[in-house]
Amino acid sequence: MTVLVSGGAGYIGSHTTKSLIKHGFDPIILDNFSSGKKQLVPQGTSQIIEKDLKDKKGILEIFQKHEIKAVLHFASLIQVGESYTDPHQYYSANLINSLNLLEAMLKTEVKYFIFSSSAAVYGTPNQIPISESHSVNPVNPYGRTKLMIEEILKDYQRAYGLQFVSLRYFNAAGADPDTELGEMHDPETHLIPNVLLSLLDRNRKLEIFGTDFPTKDGTAIRDYIHVTDLAEAHVLALKYLKKHHQSEFINLGTNQGYSVKEILTRTEHTTGKKVPYTEKPRRKGDVAVLVASHAKAQDLLGWELNYSDIDIILQTAWSWHKKTANA
Ligand code: UDP
Repeated sequence: MTVLVSGGAGYIGSHTTKSLIKHGFDPIILDNFSSGKKQLVPQGTSQIIEKDLKDKKGILEIFQKHEIKAVLHFASLIQVGESYTDPHQYYSANLINSLNLLEAMLKTEVKYFIFSSSAAVYGTPNQIPISESHSVNPVNPYGRTKLMIEEILKDYQRAYGLQFVSLRYFNAAGADPDTELGEMHDPETHLIPNVLLSLLDRNRKLEIFGTDFPTKDGTAIRDYIHVTDLAEAHVLALKYLKKHHQSEFINLGTNQGYSVKEILTRTEHTTGKKVPYTEKPRRKGDVAVLVASHAKAQDLLGWELNYSDIDIILQTAWSWHKKTANA
């Protein structure tokens, strides 16, 4: 089965492409390489198409040329801070590009859509762990773009019979256990790579944002999910759609949270190195605690966590960053 993976040369897209190949799918990667990397195209990928989702005509031609049966849509801007300072860029990239992709799907009658959504759709949670029935009220433009696409998907399902699974990611982390793939953002804003890179490059100083959150040690708590487990969930979601033809919103997390300071302690344990840092004020839009209930993913998809132990997350990420720092 041929599937199109937009953003397949990005962090989560590349790991998912690898899982798709492992499970016998034929993924075509579509990426404009603005943040995707050639280095992150996994071995065995049969086709890579370099194109921007803004190019509506070009996108339609891809669908006319290939027997695409499903789309996994990762391509997106992802920085919360930037979404405040330049919301137009976020609404254009995340909304208009998604509409272009959906339009090509409608025109060529492709029915299955797997969407990279985010825990950011929930905003400030009033209950932990967060289940899918929690109210949605994003507190930043990035989260609003994700929620708007979810709403669009519901309408397209009603009107056109589109079948989708919207996967609401918590904090993707870690790297491919084979060390073929890993995280390579530029600029890097995520906690775990920033911690590890600060240990490999003396010019990178770690800052921790917010020590006055209402948590046990004052730092924010997040639910870190291994990217390979996340990738496998996409394959399961695709199989679910093929079998049940039922659209769903599903959290991908671990049901467990770690504070920023706990991540630092576990990193010291994994790497054997002391982690120096400076304390800074909270980042705009950061909430105190985000932890998923993953009961739905387990019940509906039969999803299992194989790599999401925090020490495995840190070990695999550490191996990847050591490899790429020395490359
Ligand atoms: N964080 C930090 N220093 C960094 C990057 C992140 O203290 O260099 C904090 C951030 O403020 C948040 C947590 O780590 O409380 C997780 O942030 P990340 O950007 O990894 O993911 P997010 O939850 O924002 O999607």
